[in-house]
Amino acid sequence: MNVLVLNSGSSTLKFQLIATDLDRIKQDTDERLCRGQAERIGGEAIITIQARNGPKQKFTASLSDISAALEYLVRWIASERSGIGEVQTSADIHAVGHRVVHGGELFTESVLITDDVLNGIQDCIDLAPLHNPNNIKGILAVQQIFGRKLPQVAVFDTAFHHSIPEHAYLYALPYHLYRRHHIRRYGFHGTSHRYVAHRYRILRQLNREQTNVITLHLGNGCSAAAIRGGYAVDTSMGMTPLEGLVMGTRCGDIDPAIVSLIATKEGLSTHEVEALLNTQSGLLGLSGLTNDMRVLQEELREHEDRRVRLAIEVFCYRARKYIGAFLACMGGADAVVFTGGIGENSPSIRSRICEGLEWAGLKLNEKENQHRVGLEGKISSEDSSLHAYVIPTDEELLIARDTIRCIQGESHPS
Ligand code: ADP
Repeated sequence: MNVLVLNSGSSTLKFQLIATDLDRIKQDTDERLCRGQAERIGGEAIITIQARNGPKQKFTASLSDISAALEYLVRWIASERSGIGEVQTSADIHAVGHRVVHGGELFTESVLITDDVLNGIQDCIDLAPLHNPNNIKGILAVQQIFGRKLPQVAVFDTAFHHSIPEHAYLYALPYHLYRRHHIRRYGFHGTSHRYVAHRYRILRQLNREQTNVITLHLGNGCSAAAIRGGYAVDTSMGMTPLEGLVMGTRCGDIDPAIVSLIATKEGLSTHEVEALLNTQSGLLGLSGLTNDMRVLQEELREHEDRRVRLAIEVFCYRARKYIGAFLACMGGADAVVFTGGIGENSPSIRSRICEGLEWAGLKLNEKENQHRVGLEGKISSEDSSLHAYVIPTDEELLIARDTIRCIQGESHPS
């Protein structure tokens, strides 16, 4: 079956088309037919598409909304110039899987989308006002273009974290705030943490119950998850993706009293302060330069900039602190797994994060570490008791697989 995977944002639509079915999942032979995105939807959009491993193609087109973008993409995929023989018409797309950011306490696993599910996603809008409405638009656009009969599945960023126990997800606030407004830790990047934990199991030939790892998703957004016995028991992101690790433009953990202090001193509303914490902070805020770790590292090499050094130091220190905290929470782990743009591609950041973790039994094999750039494998030395791995994430593959499993009525084993 050909599954279209969609990640709908406010002005961006990311997509992949993946050929998969229950047999292919078992054999690990799913095939990526194409991937790409439409950016700046609402005006003159930029569309980037890559069929299989072919060259990236770039187009511009006037696309007024997500529906228009989706229609354009589907037409391109089905056209001869895409070179994707598997899809001749839109009827050759057999299902759609959506990344949905917030499932609240309602959705603990991926689900086939019905009117009730759509209402449920709508009910979670308060928890993710910037994201869930766009995800809903993506779902409605598919209904509009393909009709209501095409199966659609929602895969939630929060779902993998549903196993986190009460003592880890509750904030020490008046309890009625949790009861009234569902204020608690939910966690995000769940599909990524789940995918790399699953790959780790396969690499080590373990069963789920034997999987005890700390996964570090370090991309533009960054989060850590503590996974014990194959299930999440804690995570660094909270009610929203702002809490926890230092990120590209988000501050991660801060003293909540800082919010009103900044508001008073800088003459900002609390909404404006929240925007500052989300978009002007993290690596960007500390360095005053960029949120892009690759550029920061180049800058440090070439100009020895003090604030760039500081930004990288705070980033690595915070990640190491979470590893230590999660080791304590889990009663030890077997491995730390790095993923996301930075985690997969930056040996020096991995090395900085692992510095001084010898007490916990973690010793990097520097040769392996330097070699693993976007490559799966072990980067710790044989005599480590806490291992380290690099495992490139693949959220789209997991979304496509969950879509198949939901349609075929199978539970999600990984
Ligand atoms: P997103 O969270 O938007 O999916 P990614 O997972 O692609 O982002 O991660 C983006 C981050 O990864 C950026 O900070 C980028 O600089 C960083 N990155 C990508 N390649 C490298 C590299 N070779 N070295 C250091 N950082 C890298």
